[in-house]
Amino acid sequence: MNSNNTLRNLRNIGVIAHVDAGKTTTTERILFYTGENHRIGDVNDGNTAMDFDPQERARGITIHSVATTVHWQGTQINLIDTPGHIDFNLEVRRSLRVLDGAVVVFDGVAGVEPQTETNWRLADEYRVPRLAFVNKLDRTGADFHRVVASLEDRLGVRALPLQLPIGAEAEFRGVVDLLTMQALVWDRDDAKVPPRVAAIPPELLPAAQAARARLLEAAAELDDALLDAWLRGAELPVDALRAALRRGTIAGAFVPVLAGSAFRNRGVEPLLDAVVAYLPAPGEAPGAAASEGPLSALAFKLTADDHGAMVFVRVYSGTLKRGDTVFNASTGKPERVARLYEIHADRRVERDALVAGDIAGVVGLKDVLTGHTLAATKDAPVLESIAVPAAVIDVAIEPRQQADAAALAKGLGVLVREDPSLRLRQDADSGQTLLSGMGELQLEVAVEKLRSRFGVDVAVGRPQVAYRETITAPAEVRHVHRKQSGGPGQFAELTLRIAPLPRGEGFRFSNTVVGGAIPREFIPAVE
Ligand code: GDP
Repeated sequence: MNSNNTLRNLRNIGVIAHVDAGKTTTTERILFYTGENHRIGDVNDGNTAMDFDPQERARGITIHSVATTVHWQGTQINLIDTPGHIDFNLEVRRSLRVLDGAVVVFDGVAGVEPQTETNWRLADEYRVPRLAFVNKLDRTGADFHRVVASLEDRLGVRALPLQLPIGAEAEFRGVVDLLTMQALVWDRDDAKVPPRVAAIPPELLPAAQAARARLLEAAAELDDALLDAWLRGAELPVDALRAALRRGTIAGAFVPVLAGSAFRNRGVEPLLDAVVAYLPAPGEAPGAAASEGPLSALAFKLTADDHGAMVFVRVYSGTLKRGDTVFNASTGKPERVARLYEIHADRRVERDALVAGDIAGVVGLKDVLTGHTLAATKDAPVLESIAVPAAVIDVAIEPRQQADAAALAKGLGVLVREDPSLRLRQDADSGQTLLSGMGELQLEVAVEKLRSRFGVDVAVGRPQVAYRETITAPAEVRHVHRKQSGGPGQFAELTLRIAPLPRGEGFRFSNTVVGGAIPREFIPAVE
């Protein structure tokens, strides 16, 4: 591990949540507080900076994992946006593959929701240290303590509140900082007004002392000097506590929990402080590769148009410079790096070089796909790629106007290049063009992109499954009928064409099934 890197003021983080928990709102507030956005974009009026695809705005969901760079207290934070919806599982995986830490946003009313749980397990798989942000504490029915308990029960983690909320629901107005034992109060919803430091409300003092004791105990378990001081009942220095909590968070010993309401602009500044204080710099992350040695970088995301692509890379070692010729170690082909960009909410900033730990966009690469390794030499080791989940549903698509056929083919080519979990094939029997993916939402979004980005109106239908077989049966059999077993396919239509085979060997029949899904298994039945 390179000590320069360990000390680097850089955080590559993702914001993860179940749809609607407030990831977009929290991210928008982060952009605002870090000075990236001067006006707060609100998902409700379709004006947010991160979801820059028009249909993402229209749907209020976030699909792209775009890296956005912000700065907080002298630290550069690259936000790798991570979708919550399970249809975009690959997007989540590729974010987790390259980020060093994550903020998981919970709805203060709903607590742990199914997609949070799925994404939590994925983050476990990629060994990503996490902070939990209990959002929406201003909502009726919100309960910070219940959410903390659900983190422990449902996710099986040691949840360690760093704060306690002051006031509940509509009266939620601030937090107690359990490290400094001070209250932070936001008197107004206005994001431009910073919190006021105040004394802890007396009625909260016993709960705050109990929660602080848990925090001290967790820190003392990781640090002998702190343990000594704690056992002696001495005052523990806040810096030493933070350092121990940082180590525990990075090692996954516990998950610090913060409280807030992004929408009401309460709790976001301390959340940013916590990102800097507790989430790892590139060299410190548990899964991080060595940062010394020749160039090694992973392409994890690609946004393309018909002129070319911007490939988002994470550099694991060495330096990637503008104008360099490098190798795609996955294909053995040389590639030229034309330009390097850091992406901000509303602009991009050109970089001359990227070093280990950096995440940025590269323009000029011709043949690089998600999961490929860029390296200094042709035969350099290939970095672990990104698992592409199997497609589970497909739709048949065709242009509404035949004149659009070429534009459709081009648009599909781009979409498939951008998203390896989308697959395209031509069905040999039916001649249909089939697009497969992880779920309906993903395919709907793809179809809308064909319209909005490539101007192609497509008709979407169910795939026809041409199905032929021969069944051998005694000559006296007159009827053959089919039964379906298992599988989700319901036959909307079933056509049988039966033709007796010569010498009474049985029947040949072919049928065409039009249904919502490809039938997986048939039990032939012969009468
Ligand atoms: P995402 O799907 O996780 O990105 O969630 P959004 O940020 O789009 O938020 C979903 C909805 O919850 C929107 O209508 C937000 O305005 C609302 N919301 C987000 N944060 C809060 C909050 O702290 N309090 C309340 N009351 N509503 C919130």
